[in-house]
Amino acid sequence: MTRVFNFSAGPAALPEPVLRQAADEMLDWHGSGMSVMEMSHRGKEFIGIHAEAEALARELMGIPSNYKVLFLQGGAIGENAIVPMNLLGTKKGIDVVDTGEWSKKTIKEAGKYCKVNVVASAKDSGYTTIPKRESWKLDPEAAYVHICSNETIGGVQYHFVPDTGAVPLVADMSSDIMSRPVDVSKFGLIYAGAQKNLGPAGLTIVIVRDDLLGRALPITPSAFNYQEQAEADSMLNTPPTYAIYIAGLVFRWIKQRGGLAAMAEHNERKARVLYDYLAASSFYRSPVAPDCRSLMNVPFKLKDESLDEAFLKGAQARGMLQLKGHRSVGGMRASIYNAMPVEGVQALVSYMKEFEAQHG
Ligand SMILES: *Cc1c(COP(=O)(O)O)cnc(C)c1O
Repeated sequence: MTRVFNFSAGPAALPEPVLRQAADEMLDWHGSGMSVMEMSHRGKEFIGIHAEAEALARELMGIPSNYKVLFLQGGAIGENAIVPMNLLGTKKGIDVVDTGEWSKKTIKEAGKYCKVNVVASAKDSGYTTIPKRESWKLDPEAAYVHICSNETIGGVQYHFVPDTGAVPLVADMSSDIMSRPVDVSKFGLIYAGAQKNLGPAGLTIVIVRDDLLGRALPITPSAFNYQEQAEADSMLNTPPTYAIYIAGLVFRWIKQRGGLAAMAEHNERKARVLYDYLAASSFYRSPVAPDCRSLMNVPFKLKDESLDEAFLKGAQARGMLQLKGHRSVGGMRASIYNAMPVEGVQALVSYMKEFEAQHG
């Protein structure tokens, strides 16, 4: 068996010990005689798996008791519609900070349900920055302010939590959740698809402050109604059981490695290896402003883009996959989530040096 270094933006690499444990438990979970996939979501085994996953998520992120943790389906793009349906109440509009491709999707999707006020945009910089908080023109009447904490495609990340006063802050954290400690109490709602940093596709985690429940529009589907799902312990419909189980194993893995502070240290160390090399090289460059660079997704460009294909081919031959940048940005992108070991980034940098020596 050969495992590659998988730099995919998502679905992304998972910790190998988690995959091994899942393999060991595949046919017979803890003497139950069945796979987690085959269990009733209402049986005591799965209820235990679900409860442990929630407890670990709460512990790792330090989620205060006045927040609900929901394990839903629909993905982050789904949440772009589900959040306004749930939080608008009697308000007419929302504020969104536009930092790139995922913000644009939020604006488009939420616009079907309410007025969307783009309070600041990084468009003029080619989405290589995060607009300074002082420049945001917030509407005190907005139902919430939406940010994308890490733009997976452009590789820009918030390194601050914006103060939005009495208006709740909502964050799409799909690509950086549990990569670093966050003060959950500064947010009204956090959502994330699991397939970047937490587990398999199919699970969406929603962390929502109690007082924001009960504002859903009457058209909100019950399966996506936060209050109804909170009252049903996320089991109003069949939850994505296997994805919840794997996420629970990932949470245990994070805890064993020292929690989110240790994850942040590990992620900073990895990103530094890559960014330091990019800064020192005249052959490669990072398009992103230094103070807004993502520790999770690192886009970079070769001096001569006609070498892109050869670069990717050589990487693949060395067991480094999925380095092609998103078509809207071009160049390369290395996604280096929690599960990427530092050895993967070191291998990438040594290949980059070799390629530069050959073609520079
Ligand atoms: C991947 C991603 C999404 C899309 O998630 P889906 O599960 O495909 O809906 C949305 N936002 C961000 C920031 C992402 O990284």
